Amino acid sequence: MHTLELVNASSGYNGKPVLHNISFKAEESAIYVVLGPNGAGKTTLFRTIAGILEPYSGEVLFDGKNITNTKEVRKRINYLSHYNAIPEEMTVYGSLKFYADIEGGNQDEVLALLNLEELRDKKVSDLSQGQKKRVSIAKVFLRERDLYLLDEPTSNLDPGVSKEIRDILLRLAKDKIVLYSSHNLYEARDVGTNLILVRDGTIAYYGRISNIKSKEYRVGFRASQDVSKIIPTAKLGEGGYYVLSVSTPEEAGLALKKLVEGGVLVTEMRQLDNPLQDLFENRSTQK
Ligand code: ADP
Repeated sequence: MHTLELVNASSGYNGKPVLHNISFKAEESAIYVVLGPNGAGKTTLFRTIAGILEPYSGEVLFDGKNITNTKEVRKRINYLSHYNAIPEEMTVYGSLKFYADIEGGNQDEVLALLNLEELRDKKVSDLSQGQKKRVSIAKVFLRERDLYLLDEPTSNLDPGVSKEIRDILLRLAKDKIVLYSSHNLYEARDVGTNLILVRDGTIAYYGRISNIKSKEYRVGFRASQDVSKIIPTAKLGEGGYYVLSVSTPEEAGLALKKLVEGGVLVTEMRQLDNPLQDLFENRSTQK
């Protein structure tokens, strides 16, 4: 079991802090979604944890050892940045072999892991964005590490490819501490179990996503007939859904049960609000 701990860490660029007194301790193997709007400081946080930026004050500790001055610790971290560019003129195989020769690991294994075998002899410059991303991720997973920092791994990818990348990462990152940044709260909910909400260079929330309670949220039902006959508070609304406000998942389940028992064929039920939304937006208007 590993731990990542930040203790009052401040860091930034050219002497000007972007992160202000950040503290949190991650001690379970899990995916921690680092969520925040653009410019909040997510990349700066990753660079600080990776040891690329030295904190102006405070500490970054991995398994109790200071990352800034312990090279051995930095070697146990792998960082997928926005800019992870693989040399364009190399082939997929050639580039992965190149990194495997330097950093260790086996290029054939990651080719298989990321379903890249068919692209093996293609030049990186001829790949699509999603394919290039798969090669970057293959590079990150060449060697097993203890801490993975994945900075917006699905940004600029279309939804189908994003999902594919997400599924691969979730599979590969099992039993590790993974920080996965995103500015998309819907993605955040799908990916992680823990949330690090970054706002204006501070941590606005740190904890389990399941502990975030929204006061009330809306669920939508699509059904073969008028739902409001059975649940009068459900109103036909957006997108042809019968919309009902609930406070808990159980309440939504009970509503569904009532409909089914009332002989209504429910063809779809979905949550129309995201519990993270309150958190994300409330904080931004509290300023
Ligand atoms: P995010 O990843 O959440 O979008 P960043 O950490 O990239 O946010 O940026 C946080 C702040 O730091 C922004 O105000 C940005 O302009 C500033 N910043 C980022 N990179 C640099 C840099 N290399 N030099 C100076 N300022 C930077």
